[in-house]
Amino acid sequence: MKELKHLNKYFKKYWVKLVIGILITVIARVFSLVMPSYVSKSIKTAEDAFANIISGSEAKQLLFEYILIILGAALLSALFTFLMRQTIINVSRYIEFDLKNEVFDHYQRLSLAFYKKNRIGDLMNRISEDINQVRMYVGPAIMYGMNTLTMFVCIIPLMFIKAPSLAAYALIPLPILSVLIYQISKIIHKRSTKVQEFLSTLSTFTQESFSGVAVIKAYTLEPKINRELEDLAVEGKDTSMDLAKVNAWFFPLMILLIGISNIFVIYIGGKQYIDGEIASIGIIAEFILYVNMLTWPVAIVGWLTSIIQRAEASQKRINEFLREEPAIKNEIVEATPITGNIEFKDVTFTYDDTNITALKNLSFTINAGETVAFLGKTGSGKSTILDLVARLYDVTSGQVLVDGTPVQKLNLDSLRSSIGAVPQDAFLFSDTIENNIRFGNENASIEEITTVAKKAVVHENIEGFAKKYDTVLGERGITLSGGQKQRVSIARALLKNPRIYLFDDCLSAVDTETEEEILNNLKRVSENRTTLIVSHRVSSAKNADKIIVLENGEIIQEGTHEQLNNMEGYYKELYLNQLSEKE
Ligand code: ADP
Ligand code: MG
Repeated sequence: MKELKHLNKYFKKYWVKLVIGILITVIARVFSLVMPSYVSKSIKTAEDAFANIISGSEAKQLLFEYILIILGAALLSALFTFLMRQTIINVSRYIEFDLKNEVFDHYQRLSLAFYKKNRIGDLMNRISEDINQVRMYVGPAIMYGMNTLTMFVCIIPLMFIKAPSLAAYALIPLPILSVLIYQISKIIHKRSTKVQEFLSTLSTFTQESFSGVAVIKAYTLEPKINRELEDLAVEGKDTSMDLAKVNAWFFPLMILLIGISNIFVIYIGGKQYIDGEIASIGIIAEFILYVNMLTWPVAIVGWLTSIIQRAEASQKRINEFLREEPAIKNEIVEATPITGNIEFKDVTFTYDDTNITALKNLSFTINAGETVAFLGKTGSGKSTILDLVARLYDVTSGQVLVDGTPVQKLNLDSLRSSIGAVPQDAFLFSDTIENNIRFGNENASIEEITTVAKKAVVHENIEGFAKKYDTVLGERGITLSGGQKQRVSIARALLKNPRIYLFDDCLSAVDTETEEEILNNLKRVSENRTTLIVSHRVSSAKNADKIIVLENGEIIQEGTHEQLNNMEGYYKELYLNQLSEKE
């Protein structure tokens, strides 16, 4: 129960509703107890009339009254049972809502490294399936728990008062029922987890084969995929059958044990009636009703135990993520205006998960308004530099300074909102093109959006689509080509009009002519903006005030175009080749 303590704050928040719910539960149960004793009274009345203790008309009068009372109590009990669900189950929904928001807020605060470490499926599972298990504890478990407790507290003493030895016999099978249900619930849970795991394997498999349908067809893999799916299906059938087999035990077992209780009541009760130990056959009828009323609560005890264990396990997994501290913390409250000077001082950066040292003792300075190009082969550390500027990661040693202040001492929101980043793998949301660009500035007018799209040389492509800027991208819409995506992504950054531009190889999928046009536009746009252009193509560096050439996380060349013309080695060749290619 240690992990479930996390929920106490929510119980506190909703305590009034919960207490009302519990009171209603008790009231609903008390009304339901009226029926058995009046059934007993009715039978007694019939017996009395038969023995001429009371007259026929008196008996009719009494029976009529009893029926009205039973009806009234049943209606009231139904009404309160309804209200009970309305309050307690509603509270569980509120708590589910709060908990989901809490987890999601926390997810958003966690840094990139966390997302690299954990699978998306796992993140999704904890916020949906696990929270659902926890809700079963805060809602149904509490409701049925209270229900069961009230039933026990009311019915069992009542039975012992009315006929002590009969009560003892009638109750014997019930604890056995409880233990059996608990055992079965555990097995059911184990097997249904297996079924669920299987379902997620199956959906991953099918999803992948739908997404990769082009490859499957091109390589005529259909028979192979079919065979694999068939194997999976057989496995799925087996796990489902395993589950069905235990499930099939559940109700028969319950009915068997109720039956045994009933037989005890009728046999022992009948003997005691004959011996004159109990006054009326009505008692026997009453006891049969009590036993049936107790069956469900008794079964629930077993079920509850397994629900609480499951909720505990789920809450543990949720807490694991909630306890995860964001690696990148914003420690500065007040906003810090950014001009755009950037300095790396002896920066070394190692990725935790792979232990790859991506940057080694890197130092350079970029003045506000300058354009610097970073050139180098893939894996030389170019993207990592940009990630450090935006403080997506913190350096392992050394310092990244913006406007002379270490980035850790800047307000994180100020820093990030003064940066317009175009990442290497341009990510667009399944939304309209207009909204995708609008991410750069929520309040932009459509004119501003078309202006930046023109600057990013993507306006004409967009106009070519039937729905123009309202074209939906992604799974349910159009798929843009790599170069179009990059340009939409550039337009988004331009719309933001930030102090610092980070372009990460964002022209790699664009032909050289368009690249030239975009670069010319960027030159104008980025006049007074600090601009970091990353590329493996020298042509992208044409407007740069300075070029930094990287290899294995180290600067191997640095200087203006003129200076680099005089350099030695591989990059000189590459540089000259690419320049001449262009001319
Ligand atoms: P570039 O952008 O120049 O291609 P990167 O900065 O992306 O290079 O990568 C530099 C090195 O760091 C590479 O060896 C790469 O494998 C590694 N690396 C990049 N991103 C990660 C990451 N998220 N986790 C672990 N290692 C990474
Ligand atoms: Mg890169």
